[in-house]
Amino acid sequence: MFKHETQVKKFLLKWYSVNARILPWRKKANKTLANPYFVFVSEYMLQQTTVNTVKNKFSDFILKWPSVNKLARITEPEILKFWSGLGYYSRARNLLKTAKIINKSFKNKIPRTYDELIQLPGIGDYTAKAILGIGFNKSVMPLDANIERILVRLHAIDQPIIKVKNELKDLANKFISDKYSSNLIQSFMDYGSAICLPRNPRCAICGMNKFCQSYKKNLQLNIPVKFKKKTIKQIKYTRAYVIVNEKK
Ligand code: SF4
Repeated sequence: MFKHETQVKKFLLKWYSVNARILPWRKKANKTLANPYFVFVSEYMLQQTTVNTVKNKFSDFILKWPSVNKLARITEPEILKFWSGLGYYSRARNLLKTAKIINKSFKNKIPRTYDELIQLPGIGDYTAKAILGIGFNKSVMPLDANIERILVRLHAIDQPIIKVKNELKDLANKFISDKYSSNLIQSFMDYGSAICLPRNPRCAICGMNKFCQSYKKNLQLNIPVKFKKKTIKQIKYTRAYVIVNEKK
């Protein structure tokens, strides 16, 4: 039984206060929170694309279209032209469609509820929670690859992530912060990209190693367990015929 959620949260928040990555979409709109429009755009760009690829593109995007209002006025070919290099063009189409809906139905304000966000094109459970948590400090825990990896390692879950998605949602809920949700979510993400790395986690310098069940059991290199697709061996049948001519 894992009982160290409070200590983990405390540790990560402290770690984040000195180690947070400087990313263009984290630029503060007020003293504590990032601009929700920046978070909104970045979450579309980051779907299936690395932080490094998105960084420069994001800044150019904001220079061109600094608000929902500006973005909502452009045409699809314009955003598709800009999107070159990022791939997955459906994200650009959805981002524009959503900006137009927000312009028309939400007075250019990024919606602040899960039920409103989840209806919008290109926004699923993860993106809705990321926008709410990071942009509005709402008490949620989106599950991205970094957060999932940290959770399965802390709990030494020796099954492929794809098979324990529901369990992970329940575990993630235990790490939700009432007051510092935005920072805590981002601290998990940054910790996964700097310390609890996919291949060689830096356990020796990890401030959570005393709570980490994988580290205790020396399983940190085996968790997350890889999902092996069952390959069904094709059976090949061949036939041979012998024709006998009895009349000869
Ligand atoms: S001890 Fe290692 S595996 Fe566990 S949380 Fe820290 S870096 Fe990750």
